Amino acid sequence: MDIAAALEQVKRNIELARGRSVHAARQVQLLAVSKTQPLEKIAAAYAAGQQHFGENKVQELVEKQQQLPQLNWHLIGHLQRNKVKYVIGKTRLIHSLDSISLAAEIEKRSAAASVITEVLIQVNIAEEQSKSGVFVPELAGFVSELAAYPHIKLRGLMTIGPMVEDYEQIRPVFRELRLLFERERARELPYAEMSYLSMGMSHDYMIAVEEGANIVRVGSSIFGARNYA
Ligand SMILES: *Cc1c(COP(=O)(O)O)cnc(C)c1O
Repeated sequence: MDIAAALEQVKRNIELARGRSVHAARQVQLLAVSKTQPLEKIAAAYAAGQQHFGENKVQELVEKQQQLPQLNWHLIGHLQRNKVKYVIGKTRLIHSLDSISLAAEIEKRSAAASVITEVLIQVNIAEEQSKSGVFVPELAGFVSELAAYPHIKLRGLMTIGPMVEDYEQIRPVFRELRLLFERERARELPYAEMSYLSMGMSHDYMIAVEEGANIVRVGSSIFGARNYA
């Protein structure tokens, strides 16, 4: 299947999922996850109308952003503090804020560059060892602490669903993130314009849309399997 057709298929599935649920968002942004994919495939997706692209590694994001600066680049993978300096000013949205020390570094680099950096907090709902992210009991306090960082704008929450065979085990995780998102949005904090709920990947984005995601991060269903060679 070519990339334009795959994009159309994913968008159709998003609309179908939206139609199935009262919790679905009015609009869902499709983030094309282009990690490991060559520039030609990314350019083909852009030519087919795709605007937003996600990368999980800083170096790959920076290189691709230099080649294709007209695209909107999102960082979706874990960000190390010593790499923050490379991404400031280059991303539309960082989906993976997961510690206060990282927030402090983003603040410092953003202030030096006179930019406001938009972020999502990554939440580790099931407290899985293999994943980064703020645990649920710490989330409200974490959000409060961001008040100290005027060059960071909190735009919402992100999570990665558990890797399980039974898709219906994923649903409660997404549901919980939506409830947390609504709870934090209801605080109406001046530095938090809570608009984005980023959840769902190729195998579970339809469940995520049913549970209220308004950004889904889809890679292999658009570009085909990744080649990690
Ligand atoms: C790779 C990745 C995705 C997309 O994964 P697919 O299964 O290819 O759709 C989404 N989110 C994150 C954080 C990723 O690292």
